[in-house]
Amino acid sequence: MSLLVAHELYRFFHTGEDETFALRGVSLCLSPGEFVALMGPSGSGKSTLLSCLTGLDEPDGGHVLVDGKRLTRRSEATRARMRATSFGILLQSGNLFPHLNVEQNIRLQMSLTDKIDAARLGQLVELVGLRHRAHAFATQLSGGETARAGLAVALAANPPILIADEPTAEVDADTELRLIDHFETRRRAGLTTLLATHSPALARKAGRIIRLHDGRVEND
Ligand code: ADP
Ligand code: MG
Repeated sequence: MSLLVAHELYRFFHTGEDETFALRGVSLCLSPGEFVALMGPSGSGKSTLLSCLTGLDEPDGGHVLVDGKRLTRRSEATRARMRATSFGILLQSGNLFPHLNVEQNIRLQMSLTDKIDAARLGQLVELVGLRHRAHAFATQLSGGETARAGLAVALAANPPILIADEPTAEVDADTELRLIDHFETRRRAGLTTLLATHSPALARKAGRIIRLHDGRVEND
């Protein structure tokens, strides 16, 4: 069975007189263990799609199923619960609590679903190359460090579905290779990963590429 299904998602934004059609009928299915790259030019709807898939945003039409259960048009509390158990999420910003340090941010995420695993915490900090910054507060991190700490938080609970918005946009080549390796480990473990990315290196490793253009999935 598909783990994550989007059925005909539509999302419109209105700003004054302007109307933006961010998603115009996007459907997709992800199976357990799939590693998929979501690609497309800036403004094609990638971030909007990821927000709708995780229930952080509500589509104006269509629905999302997570493990066969509808996520769309549920109460905020239900969506939050489904999100906590099914997803690890990396957005383009706002992934960290500013008054907690890197380690505390990861620990908090672990505590939501899992028991706190000190060994795993150390591995995650190592994976994203932040061992020397583990005790720095979120506000003290550079842009790249913030993004990498956010990814460690997203991975903290070893989520069934990882949804990440440009996870390697601000990382060096070595870290990117380490992350690709981790995404492949997830695949072997039967965990699902969907990454919005502009990185050709990352896309080459993905089992499948979904391309968005102007709010629609492009067919090959
Ligand atoms: P991508 O992530 O592919 O760059 P986005 O999903 O961020 O694309 O944006 C798709 C379109 O929707 C763009 O035209 C963007 O300007 C617009 N958009 C996204 N979020 C909002 C919003 N909150 N309000 C108004 N327009 C938005
Ligand atoms: Mg985006």
